Amino acid sequence: MKPIYHDTIVVGGGLAGLRAALELNRRNVKVALISKVYPLRSHSVAAQGGINAALGNHPRGYYDNWEKHAFDTVKGSDYLADQDAVIRMTKEALERVIELEHWGCPFDRNDEGKIAQRPFGGAGFPRTCYSTDKTGHALLHTLYEQIVKFRQIAERKELVLYNEWLVTKMVVEDGKCIGLIGLDIKSGNLSAFKTNAVIFATGGSGRIYGKTTNALINTGMGMAVPYWSGVPLKDMEFIQFHPTTLVGKNILITEGCRGEGGYLLNNKGERFLEKYKDSEKTMEVAPRDIISRNITKEIMEGGGYEDPADPTSRHVLLDLRHLGEDRIMSRLSGIREICMKFAGIDPVYEPIPVQPGQHYTMGGIDCNIESETQIKGLYVAGEAACVSVHGANRLGGNSLLETIVFGTVAGENAANYTQGTTYGSVPSPTGRRPPRCNNKDNILDDALKCENRKIESILNSNGNENPSNIREELNKLMEENVGIFRNAEALKSALNRIKQLQERYTSISLNYKERRTNLSLMWVLELKGSLDVAEAIIAGALAREESRGSQFRTDFTERNDEDFLKHTLAYFSDEGVRLDYKEVTLGRFEPKAREY
Ligand SMILES: Cc1cc2nc3c(=O)[nH]c(=O)nc-3n(C[C@H](O)[C@H](O)[C@H](O)COP(=O)(O)OP(=O)(O)OC[C@H]3O[C@@H](n4cnc5c(N)ncnc54)[C@H](O)[C@@H]3O)c2cc1C
Repeated sequence: MKPIYHDTIVVGGGLAGLRAALELNRRNVKVALISKVYPLRSHSVAAQGGINAALGNHPRGYYDNWEKHAFDTVKGSDYLADQDAVIRMTKEALERVIELEHWGCPFDRNDEGKIAQRPFGGAGFPRTCYSTDKTGHALLHTLYEQIVKFRQIAERKELVLYNEWLVTKMVVEDGKCIGLIGLDIKSGNLSAFKTNAVIFATGGSGRIYGKTTNALINTGMGMAVPYWSGVPLKDMEFIQFHPTTLVGKNILITEGCRGEGGYLLNNKGERFLEKYKDSEKTMEVAPRDIISRNITKEIMEGGGYEDPADPTSRHVLLDLRHLGEDRIMSRLSGIREICMKFAGIDPVYEPIPVQPGQHYTMGGIDCNIESETQIKGLYVAGEAACVSVHGANRLGGNSLLETIVFGTVAGENAANYTQGTTYGSVPSPTGRRPPRCNNKDNILDDALKCENRKIESILNSNGNENPSNIREELNKLMEENVGIFRNAEALKSALNRIKQLQERYTSISLNYKERRTNLSLMWVLELKGSLDVAEAIIAGALAREESRGSQFRTDFTERNDEDFLKHTLAYFSDEGVRLDYKEVTLGRFEPKAREY
């Protein structure tokens, strides 16, 4: 079958993917955007607290500039972030956020009518721009409106959306990405796509863990697809645990609550963060890794609340009552709604029960400051990528920023690459001249047949393994052995158990064996991605014999710059993960011991 041709393809309809697609289209490059969910359902829509940019708009006259933002980011990263990437992000933040404002993003305003800013962890003063506590919603809709607008100006450009298509494979020839294989979830049919350049913007992998703020779709498969094709995953051991998720459901309770002045309380009603050296000064706005650890310690020392029948219910309280109803209603109305609907609690009158939960994947597909990967024609952006701007610990508000800054960078570079390649000038199928069949088509056709065989074998399997059991065991093992506190013994056992789960995966069978809208089939394909990405997380964590940022090893409690001020690279192989390392780009800011 002839492959479907598009000049460029973006995989992912979240903020990074939409921003990249817009950039390509603005530069007159035709683009197709493939997303396994309708773009507005991407996890970006759930972002609450805000997006960082050193606008310095706060009326009390806090002086801010990109350099301060860069320093806070590098320091927060425990010096593992690449400083050239951080500087680029913090400098370009201003233009990108103002651009969103001009596109109509409904940011909250201060009394002077400027974009309002609130304090988040890291800066300690207001730098985070926000739209109440629904910032992701506001940003995603703003970008999607631009996509709709561009699609209406159709004479010169083309922006095709493939909604509810799952990309299952990347096709590489001679070190170049030449196309993809995608599954149309509704029909169950696979198609080959031929293209000059691909941008992966497939988001995070939070659902590898049981307790997570991430959407169900964040399985990590989007990272696994390039990984299976030979692109390394970088710094995967660094998983961010958000200190405040609603107990039981683990829905995020934004850092904005603490930024607005909320208190964390133990079972004696004390603001217990003052007992710990690393949070005694910054208290509730200390970096997330520190607060998550201190909540866990407080609970372990008996300062938490718990239902004796359910050890997973351990929690502390987040008190917003002193902020008053007006402030809660104007700044944190979404949080109030979540608490009322999912816990039957009104935070105007009662404190919120919270516990730490997985929140963000600092690592991702390895790329450089231009969003380029080791494979020609393959670019990555957003949470799926590791540029790296977050290093060992991400500051709140920097992830939304990363999506729009590096979404733009990826779009720009993919456009330049496409316009310079030989078959970049071939018109798309909707144009006059169809692309000629060539050797690449045969390679893509072979890849398509191979994927079809894989799917047939899953559908026809009579194995005795239920995929849900494997997923549950994966979630449990990551929670228990690869959580906030880690050690060699637990990590070694996790690695063995992952290998057993990978083995059991080969005997999976499905109850529903049709192709049409077979969501079980989709979840099984994704589960393979989750298992392989989990293996990379564990292998990296085991090899990194130090404590840095979000990785706390109880058997190596100190940061060790001499041996580990370096990025971990995990390569996929059928025998298991192969690890390598890469220098961190230092520069302006000398690594210093963490000060509190
Ligand atoms: C609850 C919550 C609140 C947050 N709040 C904040 C905040 O206030 N500030 C902040 O800076 N950060 C926040 N974050 C983090 C931030 O929202 C995310 O890191 C960011 O939005 C990710 O955007 P993205 O475009 O990279 O990916 P996503 O928005 O996750 O989009 C991924 C896209 O990839 C597609 N996809 C994935 N795999 C495939 C595949 N195989 N085939 C086809 N399509 C695929 C999906 O359909 C989706 O469209 C929050 C995160 C969560 C979970």
